Amino acid sequence: MVDLKGQYQNIQEEIDEAVLNVIRSTAYINGPEVKSFKAELENYLGVNHVIPCANGTDALQIAMMALELQPGDEVIVPCFTYVATAEVIALLRLKPILVDVDKDTFNINIEEMEKAITSKTKAIVPVHLFGQCADMEAIMNIADKHSLFVIEDTAQAIGADYTFSDGTIKKAGTIGTIGCTSFFPSKNLGCYGDGGAMFCNDAELAEKLRIKANHGQSRQYVHDQVGVNSRLDSIQAAILRIKLRHLDDYSAARLKAAKYYNQQLADVSGLQTPVFNPDSTHVFHQYTLQCDGIDRDDLKKYLNDKNIPCMVYYPIPLHHQEAYKQENTGDKDFPVTIELCANVISLPIHTELTYEAQDVIINGIKEYFNK
Ligand SMILES: *Cc1c(COP(=O)(O)O)cnc(C)c1O
Repeated sequence: MVDLKGQYQNIQEEIDEAVLNVIRSTAYINGPEVKSFKAELENYLGVNHVIPCANGTDALQIAMMALELQPGDEVIVPCFTYVATAEVIALLRLKPILVDVDKDTFNINIEEMEKAITSKTKAIVPVHLFGQCADMEAIMNIADKHSLFVIEDTAQAIGADYTFSDGTIKKAGTIGTIGCTSFFPSKNLGCYGDGGAMFCNDAELAEKLRIKANHGQSRQYVHDQVGVNSRLDSIQAAILRIKLRHLDDYSAARLKAAKYYNQQLADVSGLQTPVFNPDSTHVFHQYTLQCDGIDRDDLKKYLNDKNIPCMVYYPIPLHHQEAYKQENTGDKDFPVTIELCANVISLPIHTELTYEAQDVIINGIKEYFNK
């Protein structure tokens, strides 16, 4: 699904030198590389504060801890997402309130989201799924109206731009109260291990996030609150500094590959190609088709038997997972999520994808429909 080796080989000299430099420096934790990466990412995103941490799941957890959400507080999340988003909510004994998504964009449905707000709601966690932004202008307006925090899960959309109706453009993750991202190797900005970060514009909140991520330590050996230990290590920061310089090119390469798939698959009846949110650029973390009137699992098996990689993100809706089954909500509340879990199929998309490789995939799909 991704070609991490091909991507590495294209920047191998720079990466090898940077990694060796960290090893030789012995500044393995919180060294100068972490500080430089933090500053460079702030500059790239146009955000005042980046707080690096150990992974994207930690970023979400620390964000909720720093906002002092209390057990029983309700936090709204889309039902169609990776489990991490709901997991940290439950872990902190907050109450995840699942909401259905839009069939076209896979992102949280604004009307359903507004309906889910109660007097106990404290935060909304929009997920910019597969690489394009949720409808952030509407989300921010509703959040302001109800005084709710917005924690953006931008693990799949780093680098995407969102345009407001007044023409203002902001990067995904810099719009809400806090943005959270992951540098897992297969993410659009991936390191060679685990990594993550939080973004915010408010200096006081940034300090709270830093303290929470560092054992709740306000001054050395002074712990006024319970925190966690979540750090980005220097080797990963050195790798990320190099890859950040390529991020816009990587996004462009993904978009180009997606447009080629869109063009070649446009007239395959039985498949819906990805729909663009007009207010967001798309960085195509995943290229996801919807099957219409055909058996998705049969198509997947046909392609896999021909050694054509494809995956289903995500096959099981959150409310069917044993850990996140909710009282009083069943399939009737999540018709789109149910449909998507049965219909979606994602094709390989990465920065080194060639037209030739795409043609093999495209021809495999066309053969399935002509068989
Ligand atoms: C990858 C991902 C995460 C978690 O990131 P990790 O670094 O693996 O902890 C959270 N949310 C979404 C939407 C993701 O895709």
